[in-house]
Amino acid sequence: AGCSVCFRRNFSSSPSRLQSCMSAWVIDQYGTNGVLRYTEEITMPTINSASEVMIKVYAASLNPLDVSMRGGYGAKLMKLRRDPFSAMSDDNEFPLILGRDVSGVVVDCGSGVTHFSPGDEVWAAVPPWKQGSLAEFVTLTEYEVSYKPKLLSHIEAASIPYVANTALSALVNAGGLCRDNASNKRVLITGGSGGVGTFSIQLLKAWGAHVTVTCSQNAEGLVRGLGADEVVDYTAGDVAEKLETMEKFDVVLDGVGGDTEEYAMGLLKPWSGAKYVTLVTPLLLNTDSMGLLDGTLHAGFTLHSKAIQNILSSGVFYRWGFYAPDGPALDEVSRLVDAGKILPVVEAQFPFTQVPQAFQKLEQGHARGKTVVRVT
Ligand code: NDP
Repeated sequence: AGCSVCFRRNFSSSPSRLQSCMSAWVIDQYGTNGVLRYTEEITMPTINSASEVMIKVYAASLNPLDVSMRGGYGAKLMKLRRDPFSAMSDDNEFPLILGRDVSGVVVDCGSGVTHFSPGDEVWAAVPPWKQGSLAEFVTLTEYEVSYKPKLLSHIEAASIPYVANTALSALVNAGGLCRDNASNKRVLITGGSGGVGTFSIQLLKAWGAHVTVTCSQNAEGLVRGLGADEVVDYTAGDVAEKLETMEKFDVVLDGVGGDTEEYAMGLLKPWSGAKYVTLVTPLLLNTDSMGLLDGTLHAGFTLHSKAIQNILSSGVFYRWGFYAPDGPALDEVSRLVDAGKILPVVEAQFPFTQVPQAFQKLEQGHARGKTVVRVT
């Protein structure tokens, strides 16, 4: 847990030799918002390998995953990923720091770091198996970090990395799209008004795709403003029926899940390499409820059978999309932001003293972009 004696100084930009503790929001057990605890006595992260950089956090943002992880979602798989040897032991992961996005300044680098030096302004998405960004400092590997776009404030920058790494991994690795082949491809995004949706619309428009979005009626102005070509209000009548009247799609990016996949497969162009990519997968829920081995096998079987069934019946690919840490991908996003092609969509911002209120906001749902926390 926290250290017994803390030597704190006024550290405006870099940790001093005297400083061994930092402030952070932690959880000591899984549960509802009441488990969030502010402390100034959490041990500072250290550079443990040559490729690591330490970042002073200026802003962080929250994702639905933070709310789920606060409740214990994915705990077994994350524990295994953090330390394969601890998975079978009673060692616990607490105090655990949540928060996936960071915008801040590099304060220290491992001996092998070549791209960054102290003083650089950077952004990154902190992998969920690492200590998060709701803290004064976070340590990441060089590969996970990227230079922050020059045009954005830290608050604005913190709204982008996690959704950007997720969207890029899902659209590129699972959806087969990229800057050079997306032009005029027809893409459907379900859940277009949230964090992933508002980013994906802009990325796909920057790549020249035709973008259709499902969202609530009161989000239509937002998504059209970000470039959506066609918008379907899912709250007014049968959304599947409306989408079926449209020309078929090359890629569906599903940020809603549930019964969406039942009708979405039929919206894809048959026998043309079209792909359905869902972000809402049962992998972590399965490992939580069935254990690591059974849960992974069960999830693998589900994915495999759906993929086989869809490719044989209509020639469309069924895939799962996942967040993947990727600094170089953020470099590309940084260029698009500085070229004015991608705008941050910050719906709400909270001071560091109000992290529980930020979680509450996220838990209410109906996101219109991102919720950001001002850390420094
Ligand atoms: P957000 O909470 O930011 O956004 C969700 C959006 O969907 C809200 O704007 C909501 O607004 C809208 N929405 C809800 N129901 C529907 C519906 N039936 N049809 C259309 N829109 C709907 O979430 P994110 O964008 O950050 O993430 C989207 C999903 O992807 C989440 O389930 C998240 O857990 C998952 N995810 C998975 C990752 C992975 O690695 N697999 C990584 C990142 C995200 P309203 O309710 O007002 O309509």
